[in-house]
Amino acid sequence: MNGIGIIGAGIAGLQLALFLQQHDLPVTLYADRTADAIMAGRLPNTVGRFGHTRLREQALGVDHWGAPDQLAQGFHVRVGGEMPIAFDGRFQVPASTVDMRLYAGTLLQDFETRGGDVVIGAVDAVDVARLANHHDLMVVASGRGPLADMFPRIPEHTPFTSPQRMITAGYFHGLAGPGPLGAGINLVPGQGEIFHSRFQTFGGPVTNLLIEGVPGSEFAALRFMRYEDDPQRFEDYVLYLLRTYVPHAYAGVNRAEFGLTRPLDLVQGAILPTVRRPMIELDAGKFAIAIGDVFTQLDPVAGQGANTASVSAAILGEAILDEVAFDATFCRRVEQRLMAYAEPVSAWAAAILLPPPPHVIEFMVAASVNPAIADAFGEGFNRPVRMWNTLMTPQRTAAFLRRYGWTGMPTLALAA
Ligand SMILES: Cc1cc2nc3c(=O)[nH]c(=O)nc-3n(C[C@H](O)[C@H](O)[C@H](O)COP(=O)(O)OP(=O)(O)OC[C@H]3O[C@@H](n4cnc5c(N)ncnc54)[C@H](O)[C@@H]3O)c2cc1C
Repeated sequence: MNGIGIIGAGIAGLQLALFLQQHDLPVTLYADRTADAIMAGRLPNTVGRFGHTRLREQALGVDHWGAPDQLAQGFHVRVGGEMPIAFDGRFQVPASTVDMRLYAGTLLQDFETRGGDVVIGAVDAVDVARLANHHDLMVVASGRGPLADMFPRIPEHTPFTSPQRMITAGYFHGLAGPGPLGAGINLVPGQGEIFHSRFQTFGGPVTNLLIEGVPGSEFAALRFMRYEDDPQRFEDYVLYLLRTYVPHAYAGVNRAEFGLTRPLDLVQGAILPTVRRPMIELDAGKFAIAIGDVFTQLDPVAGQGANTASVSAAILGEAILDEVAFDATFCRRVEQRLMAYAEPVSAWAAAILLPPPPHVIEFMVAASVNPAIADAFGEGFNRPVRMWNTLMTPQRTAAFLRRYGWTGMPTLALAA
């Protein structure tokens, strides 16, 4: 066997590389940067990894941040607007929030220390075809960069023509964490969402804000403010948003100390949710398979991009273990398995970018009065297929809530 060539040392490429290495299969990881360069770079994202991803990391022997005080045991949801809703819940398996520079750099070092073959340098589309001559299968796991365009978009799973959120995320001094459970989810109708959490990073835990703005909103305006141009103006605007829209988070601000931790600890941008066909044929009967963001690029609002990347790496890894020929039949089978997971997850991740329909509001109202439903809401992030199965129609939501003894909102019952 000539082995598998993987392009990209993000969560998808690293987890697949470590998995194949663990099973003694030949694998080469093509990474555009060394572990040191990844760790010294700009904050790429602020990923929360849920239970299923963490279980795979334990199996891979890379669960470096699993101490209970480094994990989010649960979440605090606050919905603002005319009908405020509040509830807290617990994750069945605690979630982990680790700086992705630290995470990816460490896992790349793990792979290398265990004898992994790493080639440093950016790969382009022509290289992919050339490298295919040296491997049985090419895997493209290079994230949202240009290589993704090698794989055609699937229009029916790509519901928007423009990004639905303007994104700013960064680490801040002088801001308390969201509360004892570890993750704060603040939904502000008309504005977007502010996620408030603690991240494990190089110097220990720091407080993170992920501000997702509906285009045209005050939240969205932050995405267009360059920190470098005027740090004070940027930080004052963050404080304005907290004071105005999430006063419970603002209560944890220490004005004398508040500020971005470092200019590099900030990411701004926008993501167009996109699902691509995860297989293409290269020359000479060789194939390339896409995993991670190359395959499913999701807005961070549902916290599913990296977790889905981990699932896609696992699906492909298991399929490779069972295979002898990496031909069209193999690729189509993998494609079916990848799509079976990605379709419902991307549908849910897209649906929650739109104003919530009444049955979703009812789900949250039910969670605010029934702790078991609140916990089920949190478990939905770890089981996004079940989340979408539950929320895709009013009838399904009602059926799910009935399991918990919920018989409908009192006001609706009265109106009926
Ligand atoms: C602000 C923000 C918050 C987020 N929050 C969450 C969350 O809470 N939960 C969640 O699940 N997801 C979240 N996401 C999404 C998540 O970051 C991505 O889905 C995930 O990182 C995708 O992993 P990946 O391995 O496919 O790609 P990446 O993490 O982008 O890794 C790709 C790697 O390939 C390298 N590369 C790129 N081009 C080349 C090339 N030509 N040659 C060689 N190497 C190359 C890159 O440098 C990188 O190292 C968030 C995203 C953002 C922006």
